[in-house]
Amino acid sequence: MSKKLIVGNWKMHFTTGQASLYLHKLQEQAPNYRDVEVVLCPNLLALQSLSLQVNHRKFHLGAQNCYYQDEGAFTGEVSATQLRGLVHYVIVGHSERRHIFGETNKDTAQKVQAVLRNGMKPILCVGETKHERGEGETAHVIHDQVVAGLRNITSDEIEDIVIAYEPVWAIGTGDYAHPEDVVKAVKLIRKHVRALFGDKAAEAVRVLYGGSVDNTNASSFVWAEGVDGLLVGGASLKAKVFSAIIESAHGQDNDKG
Ligand code: PEP
Repeated sequence: MSKKLIVGNWKMHFTTGQASLYLHKLQEQAPNYRDVEVVLCPNLLALQSLSLQVNHRKFHLGAQNCYYQDEGAFTGEVSATQLRGLVHYVIVGHSERRHIFGETNKDTAQKVQAVLRNGMKPILCVGETKHERGEGETAHVIHDQVVAGLRNITSDEIEDIVIAYEPVWAIGTGDYAHPEDVVKAVKLIRKHVRALFGDKAAEAVRVLYGGSVDNTNASSFVWAEGVDGLLVGGASLKAKVFSAIIESAHGQDNDKG
C-alpha cells in the first residue's frame, strides 16, 4: 500500500501555547488512516514541547528549516544534529527561505545532505517564480533546483528524500496551479531523478504538490498522476480544513488505522 504524505507547514504562526492548543484540537478532529502519513511542521521553538504532547501514532513532526553545519559558532541557527530525535522531516529550500532569506541552491544542497547525515528526511522544495513562469523558464528552474539540491546524494539515500513542487506564485496567494501542469512538473522531477540515479530511484522518490491547497482543491492534486502528497501552508492552520485535506488523501478501499 503506498501511503500519501500530507505535510502542514505552520510557518511563523502560533506561540508555543497556541501551538499546543491547536495540536490538541487537531488530535481530536483529524482522522487517522493507515494509508496517510501526516507531518506537522511548527516553529522551532514549539517543537520540543509538541514532541512530548504529540500522538506519534497519528502525526510525525517536521522542522521548517535547519542549518547545514552540525555545530559551531553560527549565532541564531539550529542544526540538523540538534533536531535529531525531535523530528522525522525537515523542509529545505522553501521558497520563503530562498526568496526572503536569499538561500541559494548550494545552501539548499548542503542542508539536504545535513538532514540525511543526521538520519532525517529532507523535503526539498522547488518551483518557479511568477516572472520565471512568464518567461517560459519553469522546466529550466525545476531542472536546476532538483539537480543542484540532490548534489552528492547517493541512490540509496533518494528513498528518504521528498521533493515538493511548489510554484512560488501559488504559495499563499489562492492562485493554485492547474493539476495538469502539476503532473507535467512531477514528471520532469522524476525524469531528472532518473537521469541522476536510475529508474528505481525515480519511482521511489516521493513528490508532493504545494501552493494554495485547501479542502476544496486537495483531492484534484493528491490524486493527480505521480503525486504522492501535499505540502500545505495556510490551510494547515485550521483544524477543520486540514482534517478535510487529510480525508481527501485517504483511498476508498483502505480501512481506518
Ligand atoms: C507552503 O508554505 O509551502 C505553502 C504551500 O503555503 P500555502 O499552502 O499557504 O500556499
